Amino acid sequence: MSMNLNLLKKPLLTKRGLNNVKLAGREAWESTVFQLTIYTLAICFLLFYPVNYILAPFTSISVSLVMGFAIGIFLHRGFVHKQFQTYSWLQKPALFIASMVMFTTSIRWSFAHMYHHKFVDTDQDPHNPMSIGLIGSAFPIFWNKFPVSMRDMLRLKGHFKDPYHKFMEKYFAFVVVGFYSLLALISFEFFVYFVLGCALTNIFVAMVNQLHAWGNPEGVWWSLISGGEGFHNKHHENMRDYKDGSPFIWFIEMVKKNERR
Ligand SMILES: [Zn+2]
Repeated sequence: MSMNLNLLKKPLLTKRGLNNVKLAGREAWESTVFQLTIYTLAICFLLFYPVNYILAPFTSISVSLVMGFAIGIFLHRGFVHKQFQTYSWLQKPALFIASMVMFTTSIRWSFAHMYHHKFVDTDQDPHNPMSIGLIGSAFPIFWNKFPVSMRDMLRLKGHFKDPYHKFMEKYFAFVVVGFYSLLALISFEFFVYFVLGCALTNIFVAMVNQLHAWGNPEGVWWSLISGGEGFHNKHHENMRDYKDGSPFIWFIEMVKKNERR
């Protein structure tokens, strides 16, 4: 349950060049089990928990928007594509929330996403919706194999040394269970709404993964439910620029660290 770094390091130590691996076979199962648990809990809460119908939608949607920002802006744009630099005290909690919602670590997500860009719309794209469909896009156990190159391993080498990422890679499943247990102990009602928000966000994430099969529809309304992914074509044209992040460019500029001159 705790070994992930070794899996990532293995091709680096043993192979030169490309090595066709399905990244994180067991981790994909781990994510899927957590996702299914969240969906099951969400359905149970909707059916059996005395949900406050004013507070529940408000809290769950607000939580889901925060999760969308954590995933779309801090993890996707900031961490993976390095479109902007931000403060560590802001980035780490955001990456943590993204991990608690998508049930994967920033490093694992980063690998999958880099290969999504590199092999988009082919079967080496981890979540090519043309071949795996919406359900396939939603659950990592159905994702395609993709080659991990030495260069990409080295590119992420710095993260392996970061205590936060090291800890997350080592104890990820325990962290997830601990986090949700703590939430339930602190406030069960908030836990319920957080779970509902999390289920909602996972549906949005699956929809974003599905975008290529839908001809990359564009529009601000897409951005609103996907943390700024409403202009996906433009993002694929230039992944280092956050200017396609409308209508959240103001937010990126607010959290962006100004470079020292
Ligand atoms: Zn991207």
